[in-house]
Amino acid sequence: MTSTPPVLEISGLNVNYGLGAKAVHAVRDIDLTLHRGEVLGLAGESGSGKSTLAYAVTRLLPPPGVITGGEVRYHPRTGQPIDILDLDPEGLRAFRWSEISLVFQGAMNSLNPVHTVRSQLTDVLKAHRPDLTGAQRQDRAAELLALVGISADRLGSYPHQLSGGMRQRVMIAMALALDPEIVILDEPTTALDVVMQRQILKQLVRLRNELDFSVVFITHDISLLIEFSDRIAIMYGGRVVEEAAAREIYRTAHHPYSHGLLHSFPALHGPRRELTGIPGSPPDLTAMPSGCAFHPRCPKAFEPCAQRVPTLGPVPADDGRTVACWLHADH
Ligand code: ATP
Ligand code: SF4
Repeated sequence: MTSTPPVLEISGLNVNYGLGAKAVHAVRDIDLTLHRGEVLGLAGESGSGKSTLAYAVTRLLPPPGVITGGEVRYHPRTGQPIDILDLDPEGLRAFRWSEISLVFQGAMNSLNPVHTVRSQLTDVLKAHRPDLTGAQRQDRAAELLALVGISADRLGSYPHQLSGGMRQRVMIAMALALDPEIVILDEPTTALDVVMQRQILKQLVRLRNELDFSVVFITHDISLLIEFSDRIAIMYGGRVVEEAAAREIYRTAHHPYSHGLLHSFPALHGPRRELTGIPGSPPDLTAMPSGCAFHPRCPKAFEPCAQRVPTLGPVPADDGRTVACWLHADH
């Protein structure tokens, strides 16, 4: 999958909440590439910066969030790459939904309770596709529902008449309404039971195969990513600390934090792992530990760890994997 060309290249991205000495540095020097047609999983404990990264990339960062540096290059199918961070409000309006769409955390509860599914789907189309007639919008709304496995006779339903899983599917249908090249899903299924989560993700991967978009899937549950993503990037304290093919991470996680995450969730398939979890708590971003931010919790910490920040770099003899850990610091 990584042999396909990039569709989104994030480089040197930094995001703060607030300004000056009290700013919280939530995303730190992120370099990450999404390839065309792939499902990239983003994992990490709560507070590791996953949502902040998604909001920054889509320019939906709420105040006091500020992008303090970096580039987010989008590669259209034809033409020159665009730096999303340079788009003006008009350019952004044209860009969002049609090129990149985001399903927010808890989005299934953000459907408007007093509007039917039909009107919520057709409203998106009305706002962005003025060329469509009313009848074409209705047809497209039915088509979108069918894509996510909901029968068209649900178009007249209100959100409270749908199950949680159906509401989530409607949100995914809305995200797909304008045929975007990239869909970012931020913990889209945490409020659902595990069986429902898997069904929705399976369907998403099928849709990706049919419609040829790329996905960034964000969750703290790495076992879901192992099953459904092509590549996984693991975040800790605002940084990516390991990135590799999902099967490689499953086989051996190189970063001690990735190893801990893998042993924090029961595997959905394959041999059972002992669930040891990770001792301690995620770092306080206002008082980050020196050196490697994971060192106070790391069972393998040694001499350089508390002094110097390890950078993300390739691991010798490991195909395409990058790790930020002094244990693998040949780079
Ligand atoms: P979760 O899985 O809980 O959503 P996450 O990995 O997505 O976590 P973020 O929500 O991106 O993490 O938060 C990253 C850090 O930024 C957290 O430490 C959080 O406290 C901080 N943060 C988020 N929003 C704000 C805000 N509005 N003001 C100040 N700090 C914030
Ligand atoms: Fe552990 Fe050191 Fe690697 Fe950080 S750099 S994960 S403290 S071994």
